[in-house]
Amino acid sequence: MHELHRLLPGALEGWQYELVYKSIRHIYFRIYPDKKTVRISAPYQINPKDLEHAILAKAAWLTDKVKAANHVLEPHTSPSVMRDNCSCMLWGKKLPVVRGVSNSRPQICLSAESEIMIRVPSGYAPQKEDNLWNRWLRSILNERIQMLREKWQPAMGTAAAEFRLKKMKTRWGSCNTRARRIWINAVLVHLDPCLLEYVLVHELVHLLEPGHTQRFYQIMQRYLSDWKSREIRLNQITLRS
Ligand SMILES: [Zn+2]
Repeated sequence: MHELHRLLPGALEGWQYELVYKSIRHIYFRIYPDKKTVRISAPYQINPKDLEHAILAKAAWLTDKVKAANHVLEPHTSPSVMRDNCSCMLWGKKLPVVRGVSNSRPQICLSAESEIMIRVPSGYAPQKEDNLWNRWLRSILNERIQMLREKWQPAMGTAAAEFRLKKMKTRWGSCNTRARRIWINAVLVHLDPCLLEYVLVHELVHLLEPGHTQRFYQIMQRYLSDWKSREIRLNQITLRS
C-alpha cells in the first residue's frame, strides 16, 4: 500500500495500511493499535479519485490517532508492569529487552532506539540487576530533564536550584519552593516524554506561584496550552503497584 503512505505523509513508521473493498456505501477508517494497522473499507464501485480525496480529508485525523496509539497506555498501567524480563517501557514505547552475557562490566544500552541490550555476567544477582536498571533509567531521565531545563527555565524566567529523582507512590512531582528544589517521579522515564515535560513545567510554575491559584493556571496556560490533556493522560496511570 505504498500509495496510502504517499497520501498520509504524517503517518508514523512501522504502521501498515489495509484497503478492503466491501459492499458498503461509505468509506470507513479503523485503527488497530495492537496490530499497528489502519484499515480503510471502501465500496466496490468507488472511483479512485474519490477514494484519494476521502483519505486526504481524513489524513490529519489518522495521523493524530496513529501518534496517540503509539503512546497508548492502558488506564490500569502501573509501574510494576513497565519492566519485566523481556520488555521495558521507555518514553511511552514498549521495547524488547535482549539479554547477553558479559564477562566484563555489566551494562545496559539502547540499540538503534528500538531495543534494549543488557549484558551481565552469568549468575548475576537479581538485586544487582535491578540496581543496574535503576541507574540506567535514571541516567536517561536525567539527560532529558537537563534538556528540558535548558528549554524551559530561560523561557519562563525562573530556575530551580536542583532537580532530584525519586520513586513516588502518590505524586508525579513536587516542589520545595523555599529550597527551589524540584522532585521528579522516576517512573516518568517509562511514559511519553510530553508527560515529563508537563510535570517539569508544572513544578517550575510553582517557583513563580506557590499555590494552585487562578494565577498558577494562567501561567500554566501561557506556557503549555495543552497542559490539561497531558494531565488527564497522567491521571489515567496508577502509581500504586
Ligand atoms: Zn502543583
